[in-house]
Amino acid sequence: MSIPVDHEAVIVGSGFSGIAMAIALKAAGRDDFTILEKADEIGGTWRENRYPGCECDVPAHLYSYSFELNPYWSQTYAPADEIQDYLLYCVEKYDIRRHVEFDATVQDAAYDEETATWTVTVASSWGTLRTIRTRTLILGVGALHEPHIPEIPGLETFAGELMHTATWDPGTTVQRKHVGVIGTGSSGVQIVPPLAEDAAHLTVFQRTPAWVMPRHNKPYADRVVDTFEARPAALAAHRARLKATSDLRERGLTSAPRVLKAASRLATDNLRSAVKDPELRSALTPDYPMGCKRVLLSSDYYPALARPDVTLETDPIDHVERDAVVTASGVRHPVTVLVLATGFDPVGSYRYLGIKGADGHLLSDDWDQGATTYLGVTAPHFPNLFMLLGPNTLLGHTSDLQMIEAQVGLVMKLLAERDRRQARAVAVRPQVVPGFLAEIDRRTAKSVWQSGCAGWYLDRSGRNRTLWPGSVSEYERRTTRPEMVDYEFG
Ligand code: NAP
Repeated sequence: MSIPVDHEAVIVGSGFSGIAMAIALKAAGRDDFTILEKADEIGGTWRENRYPGCECDVPAHLYSYSFELNPYWSQTYAPADEIQDYLLYCVEKYDIRRHVEFDATVQDAAYDEETATWTVTVASSWGTLRTIRTRTLILGVGALHEPHIPEIPGLETFAGELMHTATWDPGTTVQRKHVGVIGTGSSGVQIVPPLAEDAAHLTVFQRTPAWVMPRHNKPYADRVVDTFEARPAALAAHRARLKATSDLRERGLTSAPRVLKAASRLATDNLRSAVKDPELRSALTPDYPMGCKRVLLSSDYYPALARPDVTLETDPIDHVERDAVVTASGVRHPVTVLVLATGFDPVGSYRYLGIKGADGHLLSDDWDQGATTYLGVTAPHFPNLFMLLGPNTLLGHTSDLQMIEAQVGLVMKLLAERDRRQARAVAVRPQVVPGFLAEIDRRTAKSVWQSGCAGWYLDRSGRNRTLWPGSVSEYERRTTRPEMVDYEFG
């Protein structure tokens, strides 16, 4: 007997993952789903990140759905607003908005083995709680969602405007103000140039210099847009080229770091041509191999740092006061706006959701010593639960959207197989997971990520539970034809 549910599927999050999943469910006639979104508008990363200079460092024609190519991208690398508009367009075109419940924050979810259903507890900003029962729970909560707030003594005493890049208030003005930016990763290099332009003075607090390649961002000429619009085959070929060339970079990261030598020279030239001061140049030169941390793209970051009204501070931060950041050697940098470009907790989104699976397994406990998944999509003891862009499936070299689409395809296949077998639940077999994680460890050991730099790619024990150590095409192969013996249906 089939147990009644409120919805056959619940998707958590309406970013690129959740929307791709919704479109696929709908296309397969599985219309009975709801999307729980904590905010009051569609979108994830590109709704949240509104800081000046925010854009995607992956070409727009690849950072978009393969089934919804967009001839109208304005430039090679799209700004955040344009990407968010694209997602909103997809939502309207595929009629997804009516499935979305806004102001719906998932507090916890518990699996009931008796009925093979999930009960999801949802809170609103008004403090009301309700539950939704579903057969299938799909987490599209985003890997880089929980801001990492550094533990800097005195940060809580800062009396000026304090923001993480992901909580930037678009109403903020920096004109005539002294501004500080802590962090020089992907977000840092994007926000520094516009802040340098507008602020009275900008101090950039760098702990580790990044490898920064020049970014050749060009507007698409009208005739190119017209061609893409008139000839979908030309647009598809353009994307296919981008996909193939971008995926080649993976070898340099995972198995043949020497391939990155030529790229390192380009980055060094990028630095040399923009920064003439040898002391500043030396402070900006990484002492670890390229690729160990994410390689950044910017043609205006180094010129911004070379400005007379910008200071690069490499002395470690000692503490923060009401109106200043003070370094270990006692230098006091007065600031009234302080921006934390300090990144995210990559598995935080999962840890903070109280997810209770079969046999009393809590996801946060099971992952205490590192995330344990199979292909980043399923986890042992969590039947009918699927993750999109989960652990070990982020990419440092090309568009994550390709991984999302592959994962959506895998979920659809597992749901179809569950139906075909007239089973109530599907879960990865627990014995499959150690082999998968051992493979990740083996491959990561040969990668540049383990060449000695510190960063969020590796967890506390130095293991990679974040990135996919292979090519997109390999991941697509493994998810397009899943080994059904790896899963148990019951
Ligand atoms: P991130 O790469 O983790 O960089 C964080 C920065 O903050 C690093 O420079 C780090 O220094 C510094 N930091 C952290 N804690 C600190 C502390 N206590 N004191 C001083 N400095 C500290 O974060 P992100 O720049 O936000 O980027 C995160 C990821 O988001 C990227 O890798 C990328 O996947 C994604 N992203 C993508 C785009 C895009 O265009 N596609 C744009 C933005 C972000 P250390 O290096 O020394 O740790």
